[in-house]
Amino acid sequence: MAKNKTWSSWKNSLQLRLTLGYALLIAVLLLLMNTYPLLMSQNLMFRSQQTALENQALLIANSLTTADSLTPETVEQALGPLDELDVQRLLITDEAGLVLYDSDQADSSAGRYALTGAVVSALEGNNAFFGRYDGGSFTSSAALPVMTRNTVVGAVCLFNEDAAQGALLQQLQGNLRLISLVVCLAVLVLFAAFSNLLARRVGVLLGGIRRVRAGEYTHRVTMKGHDELVQLAEEFNQLTGRLQATEARRRRFVSDASHELKTPLASIRLLTDSILQDETIDRATTREFVGDIGQAADRLIHISESLLSLNRLDEGRTVGREPVAVNAQAEKLCRLLSPLAEEAGVRLETALEPDCVARCGEEDVNQILRNLIENAIKYNSPGGHVLVSTHCQGGQVVLEVADSGVGIPEEDLPRIFERFYRVDKARSRAAGGTGLGLSIVLDTVRLYDGDVTVQSTLGEGSCFTATLPAWTQEEGEA
Ligand code: ADP
Repeated sequence: MAKNKTWSSWKNSLQLRLTLGYALLIAVLLLLMNTYPLLMSQNLMFRSQQTALENQALLIANSLTTADSLTPETVEQALGPLDELDVQRLLITDEAGLVLYDSDQADSSAGRYALTGAVVSALEGNNAFFGRYDGGSFTSSAALPVMTRNTVVGAVCLFNEDAAQGALLQQLQGNLRLISLVVCLAVLVLFAAFSNLLARRVGVLLGGIRRVRAGEYTHRVTMKGHDELVQLAEEFNQLTGRLQATEARRRRFVSDASHELKTPLASIRLLTDSILQDETIDRATTREFVGDIGQAADRLIHISESLLSLNRLDEGRTVGREPVAVNAQAEKLCRLLSPLAEEAGVRLETALEPDCVARCGEEDVNQILRNLIENAIKYNSPGGHVLVSTHCQGGQVVLEVADSGVGIPEEDLPRIFERFYRVDKARSRAAGGTGLGLSIVLDTVRLYDGDVTVQSTLGEGSCFTATLPAWTQEEGEA
């Protein structure tokens, strides 16, 4: 089973494919290297043979052109003054192909007809050449017509066998084979080393991916060099870093959420136990406990609603793109929250620039302003005040909620937008806070490419500023 798996992964491996690809490439190159130069050399040798034979045949044919017809005697006569020929065999025929002269005394064909292809072609008035390379030697023949007053009176046919050139070609062939073998071996060794290195580096990456997939988010891949694989490893490490951060955030969120839900659930449990176990409990106390249970339930509802809102924001829900009159929303919320402000002894005021229209969803503006104004009231002191203002600036609607409350310590400022983060936990819980309000505000404005910032001085107050895209004239006309 394991063997099968190893074979199937090797069969599909990058290393095998690369090896086969390269082997094919080398095979084609070597084939070309072994055939093309040999064919070219063969060709060159044939041509030099042809020139040499034809020149000699021409010399003989010219010396025979004086006779009207060829006879063994005229041929002997004409050949007499010629130097010794550098050929293996010379045949001279008359116009009918009858051999008048044969230089091969041992196996003479004189007196017989030599109607070979070359002779027939020459007797038809053409120059003919045939060459063959076989068994390490060149065999070639050339035939030329003997012309007297434009009439073919015979043919000169030369045969040659060149073993020296054949041996040269064979040696060339042998050398090429040896070079090919050495090249082949060198390339294979180099390639095996290269593909092994590549496979090992890919293996490191693959191993890293598998470990991270199994949940080991602290794992990082280390790779030397500057090539694409190193870049890939760096990208992978960055991705793993982000995964690790996300995972850490997720775990913290789950633990914070469970903790947050556990508190009201525990009070419900405690209160119900008290009612059930105390048989003498009077009606007024029961009512008080049931009221407390209701409050704990309200808190649970509040937490779950906030969690649901965050979940919808995390999933990247579709955003509203309608014109929202933010002033009307601010006024409505101030009216709604004025009992809360009165209860806390806080003065709630507005300074709204007319015609401030944002391009977003109405419920989102409501969510942002409600959270900011509620916080400004919650974290305020009796006699304090809250100012809700709006204005338009550079294509954006700016919502500002300033208070004269407790303020936020500087070291806590970067963290107050984190989920479940609270500066003063007891105060937040007592005021019904969940630690999720500002995260919802931040995630909501970011949906619209907006932002939220805070300026705060401990003991003096805070000012939260949120921006949203403004509804432009053109959008209204479109
Ligand atoms: P909570 O439900 O606790 O109010 P938030 O996410 O709205 O949660 O706020 C996070 C923390 O930031 C609060 O617990 C509080 O400590 C601090 N905070 C928010 N708004 C203000 C404010 N206007 N003044 C002082 N502190 C604030």
